Amino acid sequence: MRHVSGAWRRTAAGAGLIGADGSPAPTIFAEMSALATATGALNLGQGFPDEDGPAEVLDAARAAIAGGRNQYPPGRGVPELLEAIAEHQRRFYGLELDPAREVLVTAGATEALAATLLALVDGPDDEVVVFEPHYDSYAACVALSGARLRTVPLRWPDFQPDLDELEAAVTDRTRIILVNDPHNPTGAVFSREALGRIVALADRHDAVIVTDEVYEHLVHRGPHVPIATLPGAAARTLTISSAGKTFRTTGWKIGWVSGPAELVDAVLAVKQFLTYVNGSPFQPAIAVGLRLPDAFFRGVSADMRRKSEILGEGLRAAGFDVSTPAGSYFTVADAAALGVSDAAEFCRALPERAGVVAIPLTAFATRERRDEYRTLVRFAACKRDEVLQDAATRLSALRS
Ligand SMILES: *Cc1c(COP(=O)(O)O)cnc(C)c1O
Repeated sequence: MRHVSGAWRRTAAGAGLIGADGSPAPTIFAEMSALATATGALNLGQGFPDEDGPAEVLDAARAAIAGGRNQYPPGRGVPELLEAIAEHQRRFYGLELDPAREVLVTAGATEALAATLLALVDGPDDEVVVFEPHYDSYAACVALSGARLRTVPLRWPDFQPDLDELEAAVTDRTRIILVNDPHNPTGAVFSREALGRIVALADRHDAVIVTDEVYEHLVHRGPHVPIATLPGAAARTLTISSAGKTFRTTGWKIGWVSGPAELVDAVLAVKQFLTYVNGSPFQPAIAVGLRLPDAFFRGVSADMRRKSEILGEGLRAAGFDVSTPAGSYFTVADAAALGVSDAAEFCRALPERAGVVAIPLTAFATRERRDEYRTLVRFAACKRDEVLQDAATRLSALRS
């Protein structure tokens, strides 16, 4: 008996959702985190912090549970969080949103991305333009939506898009241009020129801009410029963000999407049948977080910059060529200088050799383009300073 169609299997296998035997493909993050546990290596692979976030936010969640906020919240999100998100967009970026119609709370940025792609894509004639390397859920969700993926490469060492390649990728078939700024895995912050070109191309070809800005407060040298603030962009842009990275609450899965009411409604129509709602007591807690004073947000970005510098110095001392990130949790290093020709093999051996876990950049690239990234490795800097210093000491063993 065959319950799963052959066509779906081919699509899913092509997008890396399932392995050759049809079982769910283990992600490289799961594989590397398991290796970290088995070997006792420092895990600079998966991007989650090893410290708790602000006490005010944690206390607010405990108070919400004690106060009985434990049942289904409203479908769009609790009113104080919707208001806090709208307030945050005005306070930091001057963007005006109607909290009742232009904001939607989701189960993390991941659900926001999935629901947006499923809502706005019509089928195999639609294309979604994605910059690569890219966050792993992008290609998977594009495959689930049935659309075609078109990728624009970001290249070592500054990882800015080539504007001619971008222009060639966007056509009248483009339904969505999917931006991630600041960018995971490269740490790039897109130039004003690149953002301006994306808006112009979206306008020319009547595409929607979907922007994943989960690292909006992790820009090392601010301020962050949301693409929705560029002239003419807001009316065709859905902005996605999340509390996980800013407030070090990645396990809470509170995300949101904001933009024109008509687009947000389309996302809600899908989202209500994915999770319906989530994180009832965490939603008011994140509202508290979004309203923290400026000093908190300055601290988040200053901490990240310091951590990236500690990591970068350690990687350089160990003999890597290092790309200087402008934002995000991550730093990309080229292991070619250490005689490495295959970063995936290098990363599988690294826990034994040096007691550190990292992720090969090929994990974030489509098959056709993996060769361009074959010696590059992503290290996460979102760990305690002592851990990063320890990692630097351990990595120095690679020199000898
Ligand atoms: C971590 C991350 C996400 C996922 O965010 P959640 O809120 O945990 O779902 C989405 N996009 C990028 C680029 C990320 O790094």
